[in-house]
Amino acid sequence: MFVYGPVPSRRLERSLGVSIIPSKMCSYSCIYCQLGRTTIMKAERESPYVPEDIMKEIVSTAEKNAGNIDYITFAGDGEPTLNKDLGYLIGRCNEELKIKTAVLTNGSMLSLADVRSDLMKADAVNVTFSAPNTAVFEKLHRPHKNIFFEKVREGVNKFAEDYSGRLMIEVMLVDKVNTDREMLISLRRIIDEIKGAEVLVMIPTRPPCEAWAVPPDEEKIAEAINILNGTGTTEMEIGEFGLAEFCGAEEAITEISARHPLRVSQAEMIADKFGKKSVQEMIAKKLVKSVLYRGERFIIPMSLSHESVRSGKEKRDE
Ligand code: SF4
Repeated sequence: MFVYGPVPSRRLERSLGVSIIPSKMCSYSCIYCQLGRTTIMKAERESPYVPEDIMKEIVSTAEKNAGNIDYITFAGDGEPTLNKDLGYLIGRCNEELKIKTAVLTNGSMLSLADVRSDLMKADAVNVTFSAPNTAVFEKLHRPHKNIFFEKVREGVNKFAEDYSGRLMIEVMLVDKVNTDREMLISLRRIIDEIKGAEVLVMIPTRPPCEAWAVPPDEEKIAEAINILNGTGTTEMEIGEFGLAEFCGAEEAITEISARHPLRVSQAEMIADKFGKKSVQEMIAKKLVKSVLYRGERFIIPMSLSHESVRSGKEKRDE
């Protein structure tokens, strides 16, 4: 399944997610990744699926959810710019559906002209840029050996020079990794060079793959928002999930939780809609597990590799 949602998004309202990359194929292995550690590390583009199969699913789900989608968002299980059909797919969505398109990218491939040209077609592009220097970049993202901080910075700037859509620069704050005041001031200088960027300050809102990758305290978050002249998007999103394309509660909860933060209370609402009493049965059947993170209980798929789950540093029941 390539398409999920629509899901409520902190940045893109009601977003129909499209995942065009095999699970956990990425050019980074971020310490805060909600999908677990990267299993397929790549820095070259490929064509892993038949584009027509992806388009069929997008069109069919968009029709079932007509009037209920603000953006078709290419994101999902890994880094979407690794799929070389991305530009073609955005172009087809623009031509065939009257819905805005967005891409959530880690920015690592923007040094390539073909990637920049693909993203030019999207109405909104959200680029992660959270490090002020190589050392922090490597600690936060653990990039592919051919991805370099200065090249990424240069690629983002080149893209911004020519892009006329909505450009969001997402800064993910991880306590004691990129939250030092001097670091934030350096990061602000770098971001100021990116033309037309809207800065979004984020924190990991779902269990990160490394237990020590925790958000800073409220005071630090406020300081970062101030220094970066950004908007804080540090709260969990609220809203309903689109369920039209799912056959049952188990499929819906497993698919959504694999790609999107899903609190137990939200999973129970989904189960309710399919006439199921609770998600406890799914937990007992070991289809998903429940993890306590920052006072909220989340559902995550059994397959995700999370240090916080394995190490028992967070309370859990499985
Ligand atoms: S957070 Fe995004 S960029 Fe980082 S490893 Fe996960 S999928 Fe890749």
